[in-house]
Amino acid sequence: MTAMQQTFRLNDDTAIPAVGFGTYLVSNDDAPEAVSSAISNGYRHIDTAAAYQNEEAVGAGIRAGLQATGLARDAIFVTAKLWPGNPAWGDTPKSHDQTVAECDASLAKLGLDYTDLYLIHAPYGGPERIAQWRALLELKQMGKARSIGVSNFNQGHLDEIKLAGLPMPDANQIELHPWSQKPELISYMTENGIAPIAYSSLVPLSTWRTQEGQDSAKTDAMKADESVFTQMAAKYGVSEAQLLLRWGVQNGYAVLPKSLNPDRMRQNIDLAGFQIDDADIASIKTMDRGEGVAWASGDPSTAA
Ligand code: NAP
Repeated sequence: MTAMQQTFRLNDDTAIPAVGFGTYLVSNDDAPEAVSSAISNGYRHIDTAAAYQNEEAVGAGIRAGLQATGLARDAIFVTAKLWPGNPAWGDTPKSHDQTVAECDASLAKLGLDYTDLYLIHAPYGGPERIAQWRALLELKQMGKARSIGVSNFNQGHLDEIKLAGLPMPDANQIELHPWSQKPELISYMTENGIAPIAYSSLVPLSTWRTQEGQDSAKTDAMKADESVFTQMAAKYGVSEAQLLLRWGVQNGYAVLPKSLNPDRMRQNIDLAGFQIDDADIASIKTMDRGEGVAWASGDPSTAA
């Protein structure tokens, strides 16, 4: 196995590893061991969020991974996310000052002095959205976040920042896989220098979030043609998961696979040994089914 060590550039010229380790649905019991072994297996980007309620355990995993590998803090890229509140769920949007305090709280839980990338998790802040973005700009100035960005923002949400005359996000973390390709949003982001980071790359797998209580809005039609990538993967002698992750990386998207299974964890970063050919890239382009399915509560990018 060869761990992929490719990097991409964010808007502010920082390098972001092409493959990161996702920690959504990783429990506090599992996170220290999972994150530490991800680092030992070559992952150099760890993605977490206040909403995952595992920051202390993820932080313990980062420390254990650094100790096991002898790496320094700056060898690891850590993404953390602000939970912005959501009035539709009776959850008051975070103000500017609360946003700064939330970042401090996340850093304390993670046991870090800075996060490499701090994101607004979703555009749920409504009237406070711009105040939250101004707070992130200050956090960057203060050195608490090396780069800043957003997640689940659509073009309208990004335009709001532009119209306010503020610097644009360094990145937008969104659901991206062959069934949710978002071509218009991606070209807007490219024109505005906003790096795409792909989450839930593995949605088309039959094994994606199969345990009880794991939310997904996958339709029956999707489940019926989940096998479409199996044959394509066989042609390259790789797993379906590797094909889906390679598709993201070949498009220039950093990917964030999550797995608690040691073999899958190693497989998901072993992407350098093959290249999806032009004919298959063109065929995948025709498979777009529109918006994502990772948020069973509804697509957050439609928030007002
Ligand atoms: P994912 O990484 O696309 O898929 C994870 C699922 O696929 C799990 O059920 C996992 O099960 C299974 N799996 C992983 N590798 C596999 C392999 N090689 N073969 C077969 N099955 C495999 O899904 P995700 O967790 O939704 O997204 C990844 C990360 O993106 C998250 O952890 C989180 O950090 C981030 N994310 C962000 C947002 C956002 O709103 N910003 C939303 C969703 C996700 P096992 O563990 O059993 O292997």
